[in-house]
Amino acid sequence: MPRVCVIGSSNLDFTVAVPRLPRPGETVSGGQLVVSPGGKGANQAVAARRLGAEVRFVTLLGADLMGDRLRATLLGAGLPPEGLGRTDEAPTGVALIAVDPDGRNQIAVAPGANHRLTPERLAVHAGSLVWADVVLLQLETPIETVRWALREARRLGKRTILNPAPARVLPLPVDVLPLVDYLTPNETEAGLLTGEEVAGVEGARTAGRRLVSLGVRAVVVTLGADGAVLVDAGSSIHVPAFAVSPVDTVGAGDAFNGALATLLAARAPVEAALVVANAAGGLTCTRRGAVDALPTRPEVEALLAHAERRPRTPW
Ligand code: ADP
Repeated sequence: MPRVCVIGSSNLDFTVAVPRLPRPGETVSGGQLVVSPGGKGANQAVAARRLGAEVRFVTLLGADLMGDRLRATLLGAGLPPEGLGRTDEAPTGVALIAVDPDGRNQIAVAPGANHRLTPERLAVHAGSLVWADVVLLQLETPIETVRWALREARRLGKRTILNPAPARVLPLPVDVLPLVDYLTPNETEAGLLTGEEVAGVEGARTAGRRLVSLGVRAVVVTLGADGAVLVDAGSSIHVPAFAVSPVDTVGAGDAFNGALATLLAARAPVEAALVVANAAGGLTCTRRGAVDALPTRPEVEALLAHAERRPRTPW
């Protein structure tokens, strides 16, 4: 089984479907409240698990009822208990999400316990880095923790994926970039990382080349309905998305990253990994919620077969 170590955030998401996203100072009345597990780390860990990876997830929850609920969900998703830490220093992370009928969203996050996941707390789980084939990180935990994990993974010869999300914590410290094997920004994040607006395949190629010149081994820019562009030192490829009817794009990038990590850990070529990642991202857009929307391996395989884009490599 492919082995993926995910280090990152867990949140409880409070989502309301609204007729349109509110402007500053405006109140928009919407549908029923949906409370669901989320956080980029949790989403990506569950995404990889649903696609068949063995996953170790290192995260920090508050010592509160929200933490109890998240812990139960993560255990129920097949993640082992060892990495699911608790602290009474801060409440469990929370995200407030509004989604409009086109699936666009607006998100406010109270990170809480996620910001207490320090390098010291992570170091207790150093064995999970030794165990893993691929180490997957995001930016909802302190940057010192991300840096520590990337350094340790590099020292151990592990492949790393850094999803530089959410965009608001960018730019990244320059010393972090050379520690990353695959950097996976969306268009907004790629724009913030390079200082130039990124739109479409050509914009992604330009941004990718720029980030590779700063020391990242390879860059994967995700382009929503346009799929993804991979840029490394020698080449670039565009891998188109699957045609789906999106209802809520929350979690699409997380599904993409969880799938990429799983396929790379299974030693699939990166081109095949990106096909599967696009399928996982696309399927996530067809359902509401974050963790709840993530597809299973049979669902992804069915979409690949339907689109006749089954990667010829085993996974
Ligand atoms: P994020 O969710 O981080 O903003 P993107 O919007 O780029 O990232 O979506 C991540 C991936 O999810 C895309 O690369 C693509 O594979 C898939 N995806 C997102 N939106 C769509 C869509 N409308 N149709 C098909 N696939 C999509």
